Amino acid sequence: MMPAIFMDRDGVVTEDIGYVHRIEDFKLIPNAIEGLKVLKDYKLFFITNQSGIGRGYYKLEDFFNYNKRVLDELKKNGISIAKTYYCPHKPDDNCDCRKPKIKLLKQAEEEFNVDLQKSFVIGDRKSDFEMGRDAGCRTIHVMTGYGSNAKNEVHPDYAARDLLDAAKWIIENFENGNKR
Ligand SMILES: [Zn+2]
Repeated sequence: MMPAIFMDRDGVVTEDIGYVHRIEDFKLIPNAIEGLKVLKDYKLFFITNQSGIGRGYYKLEDFFNYNKRVLDELKKNGISIAKTYYCPHKPDDNCDCRKPKIKLLKQAEEEFNVDLQKSFVIGDRKSDFEMGRDAGCRTIHVMTGYGSNAKNEVHPDYAARDLLDAAKWIIENFENGNKR
């Protein structure tokens, strides 16, 4: 069992302009690469709600192409994402994979033998913290995406400026997911 870092993609690592899917709109958030480098000894995952697919704004293939662009850029910087988990459904589909539901976290737990109790969820929306909390993970709110103006009804364990700040908090306070 190992700890892992689960990140929302849009608004945490890449700029979120809303339903982002076009490669020409790809843009990293400042300090994202630096933060990921600090966390390189953890297994890293994306968990992303992609209702734009279910709403017909873009196709699954567009999502894959865009995500590959993101992963390629990270790879160039020596960072690898173990797996991207995504929900393609609309909210009213009532699926069981859309955040804040914890199905995708549970899937990672099973597929990668992840210790959720020692893992971290980093996101910019309430649905990220709710999912993390409900699965027993630590939760971190980054202010870089939607988070900068989100009403914070669910309290995360730490409010970070950006991914680098979040990464430093993890490294300074935890070792292998255990509290120092
Ligand atoms: Zn879903």
